[in-house]
Amino acid sequence: MHELSIVENLLDIIKSVAEENKMSRVTRVHLKIGNLRQIVPEMFQFAFDTAKKGTIAESASVSMTFVPAKAVCRTCGREFIVEDNFFICEGCSGIDVDVIEGKELLIDTMEGE
Ligand SMILES: [Zn+2]
Repeated sequence: MHELSIVENLLDIIKSVAEENKMSRVTRVHLKIGNLRQIVPEMFQFAFDTAKKGTIAESASVSMTFVPAKAVCRTCGREFIVEDNFFICEGCSGIDVDVIEGKELLIDTMEGE
């Protein structure tokens, strides 16, 4: 379950952001997650609820928006949305592509007091 190690990293980041903003408690976290991360929302939720105990985010709820993966073709320069891990250019059917979005895992908003 790779969600748990991601959540542990995330909790470290939440802690430092909370400290920077002088929060003593985090109540809500909203994440932006790239589709290529292959996160299962239910698993992620479960991992978060397990790992948050005893941390500054103990009472925080988590929600997430998934960002579609996007790639750019090196041959013809076309940008396209990657679906089902299908990394083939829509324009020229080339396979020499760079992924430009879809691997991110960012804190979009965070609330606390
Ligand atoms: Zn192309």
